[in-house]
Parts: sequence; structure tokens; C-alpha cells
Amino acid sequence: MIQKDKMKNQNKALEMAKYAYQNVPLYYNYAEKLGKNIEQAVFEEIPVVDKSFFIEKGMSLLSTRYISKYLQGKLIYSRTSGSTGKCTEVFWEEQEEIKSMLSLWLYRKKYYGILPSDKLCYFYPADDGSLECFEEKNRLALSKMLIIEEKFDAIIEKIEVFQPIWLILQPGIACVLCEYIEKTKRKVPDSIRYVEFTGEYLEEPVRKKVIEVFRCKTANQYGSKEVNSIAYECPEGNLHIMEDNVFVEIQGEEEEGEICLTTLQNKAMPLVRFNNEDRGQILHHVNCPCGNRNAVLKLLAGRSNDWILREDGTKVHAYFFIQMIQKINLQMDGAILQFQIIQKDWKSFDFYLVIEDEQDKRDIADILLDKVLAAMGDDTEIQIQYYDKLLPEKKTGKLACFRNVMQL
Ligand SMILES: [Zn+2]
Repeated sequence: MIQKDKMKNQNKALEMAKYAYQNVPLYYNYAEKLGKNIEQAVFEEIPVVDKSFFIEKGMSLLSTRYISKYLQGKLIYSRTSGSTGKCTEVFWEEQEEIKSMLSLWLYRKKYYGILPSDKLCYFYPADDGSLECFEEKNRLALSKMLIIEEKFDAIIEKIEVFQPIWLILQPGIACVLCEYIEKTKRKVPDSIRYVEFTGEYLEEPVRKKVIEVFRCKTANQYGSKEVNSIAYECPEGNLHIMEDNVFVEIQGEEEEGEICLTTLQNKAMPLVRFNNEDRGQILHHVNCPCGNRNAVLKLLAGRSNDWILREDGTKVHAYFFIQMIQKINLQMDGAILQFQIIQKDWKSFDFYLVIEDEQDKRDIADILLDKVLAAMGDDTEIQIQYYDKLLPEKKTGKLACFRNVMQL
């Protein structure tokens, strides 16, 4: 039975693959380059692609069948957050987008009593315009620019006034918010019944902290802008795959490997056998008490290096450094144009900075030194290197704000 369901989904994915290789220039040009005939292919013969396949490919990602809708401005679009300013635009046809979200909404209601009409508050990437916040229907959107301590009171006040029923939070943001609320003993708005995590690997201590501080239900939602929801956590703690929305495979010889996605809904800009480099494992025979028979995805921490590690075994989220830079930028009118912070050892950090003004360079070096030593200890070594421009990683097209390169 389970095998049959898997085959059914794989056939749907194969149909989408053939559609993409017929209608999307990026794919059919690729097949031509490989000398492959996708028309006759079985699913395993469809090429697996990674992030580099999509970088700066512009409109060739769009299906030719949707060009006229695109030209009429009828496609929904959003940008994936690139820290370099170079964004990839993601397009959806409206009805397909609605369909891709249907299961997620059904489960939100079934598991946690959350309805589309419930008031929601979420954070959006700071490079999406300069607004600090905006309200749209029953949603309050706050800019990630506000994730600095000076603004936390304002954030919590905005949330208090808005009275949301639920929040969508990235674990890193949840972390710093909770720390602040605990430190200042602020009251959490008691309208909040549910927090949904998304966007980063969720560490259990972060969830525990959120439950403690917000006293509400939580769930993890694993998704991406290109396919929407990939898997959603039930109250039993199992991340069930959204099998009607996406076909998920694990690449590699082992049971654990890299996650590979094929959209079953987005025909305007289809992802086909896309290896997103997150790590996971699929469990097929989970008889979950929640009643959901879909396979369960186990996410693995992988190479995520979002944490600043300390010798005593504690860790601090990289948001700590990002906040520090944002704060300096707020005071100095955006003097730091680009940055990357590397942890080389327990007490050794490199700061790569792009700053135009010579006086700014000296001022910022002083401020950084003070702040890092105060936070990480007087014996911390920091090296600052200036560049004209920091280039994104070729493979991901993104510039990681923080990287931990310690050999552990
Ligand atoms: Zn379940």
C-alpha cells in the first residue's frame, strides 16, 4: 500500500518533469546539452540539479506557457532572500499557489486550531524594501531589520497592539526575542496560541525556550518559496511530508542524505529533482497516532553553521553578530555595505568588511573590538580585513553572514 502511494507520487513527479523539460527553456536547453531525451525517460533518468543550476538564469526558469500571464502581471511573485542583494524571483500562478498551501492550512486547523482568518505576525527579510513593518489584511509583517535590542520593545509593543493569534518565526529570531523577553521580564501578549518555526534547522532547546516564554503550542514547518510546504510537524512530533504538493527523495547511498524536491503544483516555475543540500532521511512505515499516513521526514542538522561556539560547550546564535552589525549600521547610516564573520577557533574571529569611508573604517573597528571583547571575553582575537566587494558563494549564490570553520 505504502509502496503504491510512493509510486503514485513518483509518477506525478515524472509527469511534472516531462512538462518542465518540454516547456521551460532552462530545462530543455539543459536536456539538449546533455543529449538526453526526457520524453521517454523513467523517473530515475531525470537529471538531479542543484542551486548553481538556477543562479542568475532569470526568465529562462519560467514556463513558456505562463509568459503571457507573466506579461499581464498576473503571476504572484516573491523573492528568496539573498544577502547579496541579488535575488532570485519565484513565480506562482495564483490557483496553483492556493492548491500548494491547501494541505498545510488543513493540518494547521486540524492539529493546532489555526485558521487562515486568524491574525498572524511574521518577519520578512530586511532587504525587501525599507519599511519597518506593514499590515496586510489579518497579517502584521515586521522587518528583520528590527531584530536589534533597541527595537525589541517597539516590536513587542507592535505585537501587543496587533493581538496576533499566532506567529511564524525563524528559530534564530525566536532565540533572541525569547532572551530579551526573559531578561527584561516583559509580558508576552497573551493572544498568542501558537508559534510556527520555519526557515532554519530547529534545535530542540530553541523550541523549549519558546514554549516556556510564550506558553503556547509550537510546530515546525519545512518549506521553500519555490514549492511552498514540504513537510509539517504533527502534535506527535513527526514531520509529515506534504505528498500532494511535493515529491521528496533522498540523494546518496545511505538512508540519510541530501533532500531532493520535485514540485507537484508549480507549473509556472517548476523545480524538478532539485537537490537543496539540506540533509534528511525519509521514514515510510511510521504508524503515527495523529492519523496522517504520509511519510515522515527526519531533518538532520547537516552543515548548518549558524552558531557561534564557546569552549564550555554553550553556543550563541549567529544573530548575535548580525545584530551587532545592524546596530552599527543604524547608528552610522549604513556604513557597512557588506560583511562576513568567520569563527576560526573558540576565541578567534575574522571580520570581512566592505566600508567605503576611511574614517568609518577606523570608527567601526573600535566599536567592533569593544563589543566583541565585552561579549566573548578579553582574550578574544579579532582580525578585520577590508574588501571592495564580497562575492557570494558560487554554489549557493548567497553570501553567508556567518561561517564557522572550526575543525571539531
Ligand atoms: Zn503524525
